[in-house]
Amino acid sequence: MDRAGALLWDWTAAASDVVLPVSCAVCEAPGATLCRGCRLMLRRSTVRPGRVPAPRVLAATESTVWAAGPYEHELASCLLSFKNGGRTDLAPILGTVLTGALLRAAQDVGSLGPEILWVPVPTSARARWKRWFDPVREVLARASLPPATRIHAGLQHLHRSPLGTSSQKTLDVAHRARAIRGSMRAVDVRGTTCVVVDDVMTSGATAAEAVSVLREAGARVPGIVVLATVRAGCSPGADSTVAGSDISEFPHSLN
Ligand SMILES: [Zn+2]
Repeated sequence: MDRAGALLWDWTAAASDVVLPVSCAVCEAPGATLCRGCRLMLRRSTVRPGRVPAPRVLAATESTVWAAGPYEHELASCLLSFKNGGRTDLAPILGTVLTGALLRAAQDVGSLGPEILWVPVPTSARARWKRWFDPVREVLARASLPPATRIHAGLQHLHRSPLGTSSQKTLDVAHRARAIRGSMRAVDVRGTTCVVVDDVMTSGATAAEAVSVLREAGARVPGIVVLATVRAGCSPGADSTVAGSDISEFPHSLN
């Protein structure tokens, strides 16, 4: 992260401290959304956003996957707290994390010329009812967008098939892909360049469906940006000089 990025990070964290007197979302130390130590570790684990190998289901679509960091430690804790723990005060910090990945994607795609539309993967009505907010849209709204790019709600969620009501965690990749198929539709994307944005990439089935739907509607889709990728050995920071032991020493709760 460059100096401007570091300053933005500190400003974002300071601003959220003033508004919400809370405890650290990772280690529960009182006083800030993320304590200084956890913020530093989160920064280190996401300091080199970049391309990661695409899961098999996505490889067929020839899409590039850009990730801010691996789904572990502070980043995983923050995402869990944000999505399932009601810690919406993490949105600005996660927005800053996402900004790095958006910049990398824009750099890679940008030389080709057209304006990039960031298209968030839509939340199902069921998930929105449970959480009262749309995590991906919320984080994307807090990110600093690269020049010549904008957010476009180019995907809408449709009513789920009966298969889709099963818990996704219990489905294997093929079942999951089938459950997701037909779950969304594209809106107003013909002739545009869309990059899909999601929070966590696991099997890649959701992202693959998003890419297919957008392409069928006439969009060019070079790839997908995610905050975190679950797959082992696919960390964008694998070439980072930060020692793994430094990261694992920090306490974190993954409830
Ligand atoms: Zn902490």
